Amino acid sequence: MEVTVTARYLGGSMEALVWVGPRKMALQEEPLPSIEADEALIRVAYCGICGSELSGYLGHNALRKPPLVMGHEFSGEVVALGAAVRAEHPELEVGARVTANPMIFDGTCRYCKDGLPHLCADRALIGAHRPGAFADYVAVPASQLFGLPSDMDLRTGALSEPVACSVRIARLASGVGGAAVLIVGSGAIGLFTLQVLRDKGARQVFVSDTNPARLSVAAALGAKTLNPQEVDVVEVVLRATGSEGVDISVDAVGKAVTRAQCVGATRRSGQVLLSGLHEEVSVMPVADLIRKELKIQGTFCYTPDDIREALQLLARGAVVGGSWVVEAALAEGGDWFARLIDGPGEAVKVLLRPSVALDTLEVGRR
Ligand SMILES: [Zn+2]
Repeated sequence: MEVTVTARYLGGSMEALVWVGPRKMALQEEPLPSIEADEALIRVAYCGICGSELSGYLGHNALRKPPLVMGHEFSGEVVALGAAVRAEHPELEVGARVTANPMIFDGTCRYCKDGLPHLCADRALIGAHRPGAFADYVAVPASQLFGLPSDMDLRTGALSEPVACSVRIARLASGVGGAAVLIVGSGAIGLFTLQVLRDKGARQVFVSDTNPARLSVAAALGAKTLNPQEVDVVEVVLRATGSEGVDISVDAVGKAVTRAQCVGATRRSGQVLLSGLHEEVSVMPVADLIRKELKIQGTFCYTPDDIREALQLLARGAVVGGSWVVEAALAEGGDWFARLIDGPGEAVKVLLRPSVALDTLEVGRR
């Protein structure tokens, strides 16, 4: 069926999970998103809950202001295209199965031109600066969309965004082949980074976390696991590496204690990659860092190339989401936000699933 939408506003309504204030989510009837000429309307299939959204939900995040529809890790189907899309993106069809780079960039600044659009000064995140995908539908600039490989299901496609964060970490890591690595934090980013680094030839990977269920997932994926409530992470890593320390450490948590563990467990002239954002400011053992000539590397989001690589890794099964990726109805999203904060148990990544069927969208059709 040919669907071309020229009207800016499509009309109609949809269900959306709206963050209305600290620890408060409401499933609300919202107007269907309007689309600009260069945008596509996506029927959301799956949308993952990101750790940064948990801090947003608590009200700890200046980026996110209520009322807000969050959600930036999504997959879905194109249901309508703006009038100018077809000329620029002839490959985009109604019915195409897609995921998105939710980090919208201007494409004109020095960082965009340097291949670092995720550092664009004018960047805007879907689900923070504009309505996100915890809803039946989301409007997305067509240039931010990526078609899913033909044999990839929509559930897997929704993992491309967090996997791309791990691809970025691996891209900024030096000498991964044959390296010993410590990953602090066994959340989604930690578990995906474990898989990406192993695929790139890391020899030995330690993963630390205080959640035993998450540690058993890491162990099943080939990591040597450490629980800081039971052992001294730095001591165990040093002992296992002939007192040297690992070549590369990744902090996927972002607290003073986890940042310090990375510094302590990394060998002289090794590399510490900082990804976790739990604490904005923390004390770090800087003298230790100086005397070891550690290379400190911040790593943030992903570029479009990182998303492409994430899709390839998922397509060939080098990175998988196992039983620790759980699905829930969008209506249960508020409960899941609370649960992920108060006691996640075995669930690491929660994918919310709107209930609307494709054929319920009647607007914009002819
Ligand atoms: Zn830019």
